[in-house]
Amino acid sequence: MLLKLQNIGKIYDSNNILTIGVRNVSLQFDLNEFVIIEGESGAGKSTLLNIIGANDTYEEGELYFNGAETSHYSASEWERYRERNISTVFQDFNIIESLTVLENVELALFRIDDVKERKRVARELLAKVGLTAQTKQRGSELSGGEKQRTVIARALAKNSPIILADEPTGNLDVKNSEEIAKLLKDVSKDKLVVVVTHNAAFFTPYATRRVKLYDGKVSEDTTIEKPAPAAAGAGEREAPADKKRDLKNAARLGILNYKSRPRFTAMVSFALLICAVTLFIVLDVFGQSLIKPLKTTLDKVGIAGKVIVSNAGGTIAEGALNEISSAAGAGYTLADRELSEFEIAVPKTGGMLRAYTVTCVYAPYRYAPEASEAVLVMPVSASRDEAALKSVFLNAGVGVESVKTEKSLTADGVYLYLGYDALTDNGIKIRAINSAMRLGEDDATVYTFEIGEGLEAGQVNLINSNYWDVKNKAVVFGVNADKAYSVRDNNGTSDKTGGVVVQMNAEDYAAVFTAGARPVNQSCLYFPSDAEARAAIEKLPDGYIGMLSASKIYVSGAGDAFTANVLWYLAMIAGCICFAVLINVIFIRSIRIYNTDFAVYRTLGISRKISARSLYMQMALVFLPTLVLLPVVSLIAAVIPGSAMAFIGGGSYVFIELALLFIIEFVAFGFNKSIRGQSVRKVLRRGLK
Ligand code: ADP
Repeated sequence: MLLKLQNIGKIYDSNNILTIGVRNVSLQFDLNEFVIIEGESGAGKSTLLNIIGANDTYEEGELYFNGAETSHYSASEWERYRERNISTVFQDFNIIESLTVLENVELALFRIDDVKERKRVARELLAKVGLTAQTKQRGSELSGGEKQRTVIARALAKNSPIILADEPTGNLDVKNSEEIAKLLKDVSKDKLVVVVTHNAAFFTPYATRRVKLYDGKVSEDTTIEKPAPAAAGAGEREAPADKKRDLKNAARLGILNYKSRPRFTAMVSFALLICAVTLFIVLDVFGQSLIKPLKTTLDKVGIAGKVIVSNAGGTIAEGALNEISSAAGAGYTLADRELSEFEIAVPKTGGMLRAYTVTCVYAPYRYAPEASEAVLVMPVSASRDEAALKSVFLNAGVGVESVKTEKSLTADGVYLYLGYDALTDNGIKIRAINSAMRLGEDDATVYTFEIGEGLEAGQVNLINSNYWDVKNKAVVFGVNADKAYSVRDNNGTSDKTGGVVVQMNAEDYAAVFTAGARPVNQSCLYFPSDAEARAAIEKLPDGYIGMLSASKIYVSGAGDAFTANVLWYLAMIAGCICFAVLINVIFIRSIRIYNTDFAVYRTLGISRKISARSLYMQMALVFLPTLVLLPVVSLIAAVIPGSAMAFIGGGSYVFIELALLFIIEFVAFGFNKSIRGQSVRKVLRRGLK
């Protein structure tokens, strides 16, 4: 016996009002039967159908399936029971409106691997219900009768041993009703067909049995025609579990849903892209400014006793520097770290001299050079270039008048240690040795600058210029690039000069080398030893960050700056969390449109696992445009003239993409979880009652 109901009872409890759905129902059903269930409204017909179809639980009695008790079934066992054994034709159809008629039927054919075969079977069934012409129409475009025929074809497609139909011809004309009744009669040859109807007389010529309910109880049970015994093997479900097929089906379902609801897909994809761009802007704008104070480049040449000072405000005024200096007990200060250590490329000028990079360092405690003195420290291997190197600085007219040389085995480059006065007075001039000059489209290397009193204001003369015909052209110097000068002459050729020497009048010369009153970003404090510098960091006034030039970062007395940073980070993290929660709420709301669809999938034998996975895949597809478009948006933002945006960095890109992928998959996870305990009957209530 396929199904045996023994004293089944169902009591509904809604708001403490108890209603009897069915009581004491004892019935047996077998394959090959075509059973009509009739009765007045409220007699318990739907309740009975729901119990057999596992869309509802029963409280009393026992339902035997193939002789085995079911009252101990867990939710997943009921799920499997429904998945394998039950096909339902809903009174309200529960057609998936975004899918075509063919796709609706195919959903119930997932057990067939071959897509062509799947379509063939679906078409065959649709032909049987007379819908060949409508296969490509969407569910939403069908008439009531067409919807009903579609869900009948879909129920038959599932090929399960039990077919339950609630008013299956309610929306059909006589001719179509007869076709459907015949079809059901036909399939009942090796299945159990149970039809709930108000019109028992219509189905009587086709049915084998008629069960009448009254007030929740069986009032009549009449055999119309004795069914033929079931053929061997009838009622057994084909297609055992297959992991690979499940994965493929999940992917197909995901793609189907992705394509069938273009508005949802477009909306969520767009929302994701907006989220990605917002995150990108937040990271770009805030991320950079937040990290800055701790990211300062440290001196490559570790000089004992040097502290680099900066503050969260970004600039240090001169008065403040004196204050910091005396608080920390520094011997010397320098307002701009850049000037305490810079590099000059000395060009090759024939003879023995190779091109050198000279690092100019200010180091009062190590060599203590006086004003206009310098100490050249060079590796022993470079000794032969000593004289030439010295002469570069002595002849450059930058305030260096004597150079003492130290040759060292340990030096790995050439260093020029400068005196404090020489540096403050002539620092920019020294840096200008071998500076760059823009001449029309070309860049030329300026070796040094000279005063030529014969020149008028705004004019320069180029000596040893390889650039012919530049007379009256404009040049801009890298040293102080806010003014252009015009070239008066270009034929002061001199073979001795490696680069270009620029001659200008005294006023212009002074103007080019005026540092101007630009605020400094950092300052250096100098101490006789590393230990003293370390100790001085503790004494910095509040708000300043001190870094030992040796490389480690020490922060002291910078409470405000630091707290502000931490607060910023916290605010940003809190903002991100709020943002994530917000988009989660929005996405979860919109994803609810799948509630009914997923309940329908379950009635069609698509396991929860497959539909859950399909949603993960669908969300991954929805996410694809963001993956590709984010760098494009970032690139556009970066190239907009005047934009301070940087092109998205690899780390930020990965972070944003992963964060959003996580959020969107989390939404899918939340949705899957929310429908886990959901009763199919409740979701589809409209359809069942
Ligand atoms: P029929 O399908 O024969 O019209 P039902 O099986 O729907 O009857 O209903 C049987 C009884 O159970 C009715 O009294 C109905 O009011 C009650 N009932 C059905 N569903 C619910 C429900 N979800 N909550 C409370 N009472 C219900």
